[in-house]
Amino acid sequence: MGRVAIVTGGTRGIGRAIGEMLRDQHGCTVIANYAGNDEAARAFSDETGMPTVKFDVGDHEAAVAGCQAVEDEHGPVDILVNNAGITRDGTLLKMSYDDWHDVMRINLGGCFNMAKAVFPGMKDRKWGRIVNIGSINGQAGQYGQVNYAAAKSGIHGFTKALAQEGARFGITVNAIAPGYIDTDMVAAVPEAVLEKIVAKIPVGRLGQAEEIARGVSFLCSEDGGFVTGSTMSINGGQHMY
Ligand code: NDP
Repeated sequence: MGRVAIVTGGTRGIGRAIGEMLRDQHGCTVIANYAGNDEAARAFSDETGMPTVKFDVGDHEAAVAGCQAVEDEHGPVDILVNNAGITRDGTLLKMSYDDWHDVMRINLGGCFNMAKAVFPGMKDRKWGRIVNIGSINGQAGQYGQVNYAAAKSGIHGFTKALAQEGARFGITVNAIAPGYIDTDMVAAVPEAVLEKIVAKIPVGRLGQAEEIARGVSFLCSEDGGFVTGSTMSINGGQHMY
């Protein structure tokens, strides 16, 4: 019997690729969380046969209840991938408080809410894998993204702190910092801006969602058990440090 994994924002883009790889490479039962796009969720389930669960990861009560519902139906969650994320871009001068707060609440608060729900069970069972999806823009900053860069940077700190708490219970906590990946999120970037971004990527192209999923797959494996508190950059060489 494979392990149970929950992937937030798992019905589209990077999250979908992660879920499919955890199922195919590790035999996991994968539950894909999503926020509101029922059409995409239905298409995902029809095409993959994988179950979905709808709740806002940024809503603490909803996230805790959602995880409980998943555990009641599928068994204890062994693997959590905090992948759900949004952008609300704009320069500081134009950014509203709501744009700041929504991104912090969902992108960073969602990691807390989800970890809070599943960490106690992982601790009791002495095994767990938590992978948080950060961003190159949390490492390097990005014009027009003080909210997103702050939330993603926060994810990297959250990861290192929680890794220290989980280590003696067999729980690893790591982050992946993707560069620009060909998903709906990047499709929303104006073409002229995107051209300039691609020109700065040494490998000369956008990444594919599967290239992030491979990193997650390793971090969730038994072989990845000595890796914790790390950030794996998968960005085509765009940011090196
Ligand atoms: P997409 O926009 O393609 O998909 C986002 C997914 O997250 C959807 O399933 C969406 O659900 C879900 N989601 C959004 N808000 C919430 C919420 N409040 N609660 C639960 N689920 C939610 O994103 P990507 O695949 O491009 O990105 C995935 C992650 O990778 C994000 O954290 C993003 O910040 C990060 N990232 C992406 C990069 C890229 O270049 N694409 C680069 C670096 C990092 P629904 O369909 O219902 O809206």
